[in-house]
Amino acid sequence: MTQRVVITAGASGIGLEMARNFAADGARVWVSDIDAGAVSALPDGIRGTVVNVADEAAMAGFFSGVEADWGGLDVLCANAGVKGPTARIEDIALNEWRSCTAVNLDGAFLAAKFAAPMMKRARSGAMIFTSSTAGLYGYPSRAPYSAAKWAVIGLMKTVAMELGPFGVRSNAIAPGSVEGPRMEAVLVAEAKAKGMTRDQVYEGYAKGTSMQSFVEARDVANMAVFLASDAARLVSGQVIAVDGHTVNPDPQV
Ligand code: NAD
Repeated sequence: MTQRVVITAGASGIGLEMARNFAADGARVWVSDIDAGAVSALPDGIRGTVVNVADEAAMAGFFSGVEADWGGLDVLCANAGVKGPTARIEDIALNEWRSCTAVNLDGAFLAAKFAAPMMKRARSGAMIFTSSTAGLYGYPSRAPYSAAKWAVIGLMKTVAMELGPFGVRSNAIAPGSVEGPRMEAVLVAEAKAKGMTRDQVYEGYAKGTSMQSFVEARDVANMAVFLASDAARLVSGQVIAVDGHTVNPDPQV
């Protein structure tokens, strides 16, 4: 059967790559994103709606629209995240903490909350949460991001336990440093905070992995398609790192 796939923050970056991969695999794909311009520029065949993942009413409306139009949902990629502030713990304001966790954690919660009833009813489905290697280690100068990405793993494991008896699987992907505009912003912010050049920070991250490499968005998207497929029918409650094997999560310090 044709998979019906929802991807939050799917109009650019990793989410768009996931959307392209699922669509190429024959799935029906509907992305949500806060960026109206990016939504209007989506490739043909990928449907999009402007939604802020942290807005409960907007998320409720979006998922009711999915249910009304599609009659159900097979795959949820709860992918939205923002990098949050780059600063030491004592310099982070509570409102900066909250705006970071609101997208990374509340957004994942709301997506799972509204997707769960459809999947439970169908007694099948797969949820895929985008965590990060920051959710497997600490991340100096990125406390709210790291805390939220760890929390996403607790959410994913709980969803796996609650929904497993209903035939619904739940997994998380932990990407390493992914080439693209998001990581460029991180490199520039960290270089400034640490008194280094952008290239030194880049090299440090690449050399902090066994594969000595950054990740590409398609590497993460390929894992999402696998986790959603029948080939992964008994894979649930897992965090799969797509990171070239992080061996030093903070190579600059
Ligand atoms: P990105 O910064 O390129 O943003 C992707 C999309 O998110 C954009 O289209 C943006 O409009 C949308 N977005 C931002 N805030 C939103 C909100 N409140 N509601 C809905 N959409 C929103 O991000 P990315 O690099 O593609 O990252 C995707 C996911 O992967 C995030 O959860 C991120 O934390 C995680 N991740 C990224 C990296 C990396 O190196 N880029 C590494 C590990 C994990």
